[in-house]
Amino acid sequence: MCSSDLGKGDKRLRPNDSPRFTFQTAFPRRLSTPGHYAYLRISDGCDNSCTYCLIPSLRGRYQERPQKMLISEARRLVDQGVREIILIAQDTSYYDYSPGTGSGLSSLLEALNGIQGLDWIRVLYAHPRHIDRHLLQTIAGCDKVCPYLDIPLQHINDGILDKMGRNISRVEIEEILRQARELVTDISIRTTLMVGFPGEGEEEFSELADFVLAQRFEHLGVFQYSPEVGTAALRYGSGVDELHADRRREKLMEVQQEISTERLNRLRGRVIPVIVDRPYPESGSPLMIGRAIFQAPEIDGIVVVEGGDIRPGQIVEVKITDSSEYDLYGIN
Ligand code: SF4
Repeated sequence: MCSSDLGKGDKRLRPNDSPRFTFQTAFPRRLSTPGHYAYLRISDGCDNSCTYCLIPSLRGRYQERPQKMLISEARRLVDQGVREIILIAQDTSYYDYSPGTGSGLSSLLEALNGIQGLDWIRVLYAHPRHIDRHLLQTIAGCDKVCPYLDIPLQHINDGILDKMGRNISRVEIEEILRQARELVTDISIRTTLMVGFPGEGEEEFSELADFVLAQRFEHLGVFQYSPEVGTAALRYGSGVDELHADRRREKLMEVQQEISTERLNRLRGRVIPVIVDRPYPESGSPLMIGRAIFQAPEIDGIVVVEGGDIRPGQIVEVKITDSSEYDLYGIN
């Protein structure tokens, strides 16, 4: 599939010719994050129509912030000491998107990449429908953009994807993942999956489990479907019973645990850059907690660093000496 194909058949609520609305945020921003990283919301609301989700009715239709405003906010954040900016939205890859030209997120990433003093840029919540070759090439080509992409996939069975209203097929998802691995060297892919959606029988679940085994995602989150009043998915029934769905969630996480353990184990002996987040939460401990370039805050694992005089906000070289299922341990 080529990049322009990815936009075809886009069943979105917003007509393509409708204006893109913008919203503002106040300055100066008070950071709730440690000070050296910050989330930058590039848009709000969502025009997708995932049948299990209430966000479009709660947050409204898609509104994006102009690139100029985002760059100016990013510069201010960097002036305040931020070294890592994490782009968030309900659907980041839909930024300045059009079916003809694809995602405009590339242009935003290129502009952010030019900000002096900024070290890492990370993209979360990229809907696979709007990821294209050009976006992946931009991630590969911008030295500050982490080789990391969060692509919530939810499922892989075509029947379930259709019922979920995800507007994408298994073949298309696999092509995007193939392109991501081909174009972005050492990319780490995070995804989230949902188990227990109505119609997920043993066959559909096995397909999902085999997919997880085959793709070997670097990071995975699994959630159980929860019927929400007001969502279109209710017409399909209440879903798989809770106990059963929980067993499926556990099964996927067991598979992922093995994949992650093996992947992190291979890093022992390597020296990698780590951004230092905070002291280890044990009074008097000389250890610090940080993250490698393939770890987003709060959702991925951590690196526990033993070292001399290192402070939050520094990016330091760490020699990995040990690993567990999801975390790394090393010496600066
Ligand atoms: S799940 Fe995400 S992409 Fe789908 S409608 Fe909700 S917010 Fe939008």
